[in-house]
Amino acid sequence: MGAGAPMVLMVGPNAGEVERALRAGELVCPGCEGRLRPWGFASPRTVVLAGGAERRRPRRGRCRRGGGTHVLLPDVMLVRRAHGVEVIGAALHASAEGAGWRRVAAMLGVAATTVRGWVRRWAERAERLRAHFTRLAVWLDATLAPIGPRASPSADALEAVAAAAVAAGRRWSAMPLWRFAAAASGGRLLCNTGSPFPAPWTAGSVPARDCHHELGGWNGRRAPP
Ligand SMILES: [Zn+2]
Repeated sequence: MGAGAPMVLMVGPNAGEVERALRAGELVCPGCEGRLRPWGFASPRTVVLAGGAERRRPRRGRCRRGGGTHVLLPDVMLVRRAHGVEVIGAALHASAEGAGWRRVAAMLGVAATTVRGWVRRWAERAERLRAHFTRLAVWLDATLAPIGPRASPSADALEAVAAAAVAAGRRWSAMPLWRFAAAASGGRLLCNTGSPFPAPWTAGSVPARDCHHELGGWNGRRAPP
């Protein structure tokens, strides 16, 4: 994936709530912060989630200001990945604990080459992921204790994701670790792309009070009334 990495809006997994918020003009463009209005659907795809394979057809919204269209991606999914983020996260954890990718693959019932691909991509991106989630953790909780080094850059990155998730849980409300990671990376956790992760700290120094939870990532915050 190159410069054309799609800018998606991460939303919660409840399609009914997403639909309501989209129609009510509560969802904000990830590019320019204009409000989104309903704009058809993205192409249907099968995604392997923790509970099994599901057919999904994510909603699309069109920015009222800039005119661009954006896929509303549930935070159980990642951009251009056929497996849900919780499946991928389980593989990354097992791998960081020393399990070989063949064993991880057998454990999860996923093709070994697929697991190897996730583990390698995570390792390639480890420093960038560590830096992003560490910065996010500190932004969410300035009193956060320094994150200690682990056995490898990949493990360091996992540790930073966990620290940020804890900080987010303290500031807002707890949500599952890997759904948080999907939302906080704009769905691009494993994308090989130069497009930046959402950087909420650039918009202002204080995290909005009603960020996230029902409606996904930092670029999914509700527009002010
Ligand atoms: Zn826009």
